[in-house]
Amino acid sequence: MRPAILFPLFASTRSLPGIGPRLEKLIAQVAGSRLVDLIFDLPTGVVDRSYRPKLIAAEAGRIATVTVNVLDHLPPRDRRQPYRVRCTDATAALELVFFHARADYLNQVLPVGSKRILSGRIERFNNRLQMPHPDHILPPEQEAEMPLYEPVYALTEKLPGKSLAKAVRGALQQVPAMPEWQEPSFLKAKGWPAFGEALRKAHAPQHEADLSPETAYRRRLAYDELLANQLALVLIRTHMRTAKGRMLKGNGHLKEKALAALPFTLTDAQKGALAEIEADMASPSRMLRLLQGDVGTGKTVVAMLALLTAVEAGAQGAMMAPTEILARQHMAALEPIAGAAGVRMALLTGRERGASREAILQPLASGEIDILVGTHALFSEDVAFRDLGLAVVDEQHRFGVHQRMTLQGKGEQVTDVLVMTATPIPRTLALTVYGDMDVSRLHGRPPGRQPIETRLLAAERLGEVVEHLRQAMARGARAYWVCPLVEESEKVDLATAEERAEELRKALGSKVGLVHGQMKAAERDAAMAAFKEGALSLLVATTVIEVGVDVPEATIMVVEHAERFGLAQLHQLRGRVGRGRGKSSCLLVYQGPLGETAKARLRTLRDTDDGFIIAEEDLRLRGPGELLGTRQSGQLEFRLADLSVHADLLAAARDDAKLILSRDPELNSDRGEALRVLLYLFGRDEAVRYLRAG
Ligand code: ADP
Ligand code: MG
Repeated sequence: MRPAILFPLFASTRSLPGIGPRLEKLIAQVAGSRLVDLIFDLPTGVVDRSYRPKLIAAEAGRIATVTVNVLDHLPPRDRRQPYRVRCTDATAALELVFFHARADYLNQVLPVGSKRILSGRIERFNNRLQMPHPDHILPPEQEAEMPLYEPVYALTEKLPGKSLAKAVRGALQQVPAMPEWQEPSFLKAKGWPAFGEALRKAHAPQHEADLSPETAYRRRLAYDELLANQLALVLIRTHMRTAKGRMLKGNGHLKEKALAALPFTLTDAQKGALAEIEADMASPSRMLRLLQGDVGTGKTVVAMLALLTAVEAGAQGAMMAPTEILARQHMAALEPIAGAAGVRMALLTGRERGASREAILQPLASGEIDILVGTHALFSEDVAFRDLGLAVVDEQHRFGVHQRMTLQGKGEQVTDVLVMTATPIPRTLALTVYGDMDVSRLHGRPPGRQPIETRLLAAERLGEVVEHLRQAMARGARAYWVCPLVEESEKVDLATAEERAEELRKALGSKVGLVHGQMKAAERDAAMAAFKEGALSLLVATTVIEVGVDVPEATIMVVEHAERFGLAQLHQLRGRVGRGRGKSSCLLVYQGPLGETAKARLRTLRDTDDGFIIAEEDLRLRGPGELLGTRQSGQLEFRLADLSVHADLLAAARDDAKLILSRDPELNSDRGEALRVLLYLFGRDEAVRYLRAG
């Protein structure tokens, strides 16, 4: 249970004065619904209102805070005119200008004859001093409330900055005195303040420099968050390790049939990875293993063979993919193998409903289905296995840690977990996402693959690209054309996939198809299938084809607006070609002019095929959310830590977490108690449950 000391911070933002249902909703959109979300929403800017001139000396263009007397109101004669309020401070006159103003409101806050403290931008117009729409208007007795250094928070359109800032101030007042969870000597060596002080400082910048993630107080907060993250991962990990596992040991009879049915032999790397996986499965402790291999290295077949081992051992297997396209593709690729081995497979996605869903759930529960492939639909509560032995999660970073655990819970006994990822995750990130999972790596591609030629082209040369495609298609080539994702709400002038497909159809003829995320699943499948069979030779797509799509005949990849993609993402896209024996090329079309960094990024991609180098570069330039594509899932969204700056702290936090738990495995010492507070503060309740004495 959450410790009582944290109750105030986990109260709803509604509990703050002045926050009603409307503001609550707006605040929830930018920060969250509890006070703790507000205090972790650090400012992104600061407005300096400390300039307090006499009006006669006030410089136009600056933000100033002035004390004036209100002389009179000049309501507009017609609606297009502004409402004016004339003031003076005895040295000069100042005119306040309001467009679309409400007279009753202005009379209330600026009564004639009153003294007021105002803050806003001073302007000079026709040699008169003006202040259009002051940011703050206060009576003298409330002078203390004038924020001379005002923090600025990231906003939504409708949420007034003042309201959010006020809510944050209110939330900060509710921060209790917390027990110190960090080692005092460590804090001293680092020169870091206590948690509460660090928070208050982080919310009280006076200059741009105070917003830097490198300040002592921001580093302290980042470390707190990272330590909570690492403690949680070690706890979960320890729990998994000590949880009594089961031995899944096959006799090889299914695998043998499958291998005989494959049109190729396994590479040494694949054999090695499979041996590691099988050793884990056969051991009595639970497997938690990451199978990492660049695109096209052949992870899927390795996973399938592991699933067959589980079936040989009398259990069931599940393979989960992040998108429906991928799930269907896995199904299509694996079903023949399963068939050859006499193993029953089924597919479950959000599309299977009603009777067709029942037709899967029933035999799944009775054990007639051996292997279930699907999307996150596998997480649904009504999906029950007879005996799930191995869960394979493809492209895991798209799922949250929480979902991964749900799937583990589906095993009657204990489920072994194999996570596959094509993203070459840099070490720093692997730590936060996977904790210390065991890792098998697939190096090197299957034999017969040719290197992919990558070229950078300015958008002006799009005509040449189309010409190149025309010739290639005439020779029977198949190609992808990727357009950046367009959200309906974004009125950004991007080449949308639809328009582009239409244009290309005009230029290249009828063998041009289109797939995008908004499409009905059946239509999308039809287009993919047509491309796979060769009925279509150019597939225009949004990034739905990014992960895993496997059409070995495709040899050309065109990416439009390449500058808008993450490097790792481009690398994934490029991996869609070069899968067969034909020579492949990747044309990255960018919209100039590009800055130096942008150019350097694209050049990295042109010059290397090494996913790890690319991923490190991407992490350096764009941060972890971009790299892993987790911006929506929120899994990696640290609120206080920024891994592109605080990577050093992550490594320290990891060592620290291990040390702490080796000395005090149940967190029972005084510091341990404080660390429990830390875990709850950062929402790691899941992990605390694994502490026996909890
Ligand atoms: P990824 O690691 O990107 O998931 P896949 O498992 O989709 O890669 O494999 C890519 C392609 O390589 C598939 O068409 C697959 O059949 C093929 N493949 C896998 N292993 C081998 C191998 N040992 N020799 C030749 N082709 C292979
Ligand atoms: Mg794959």
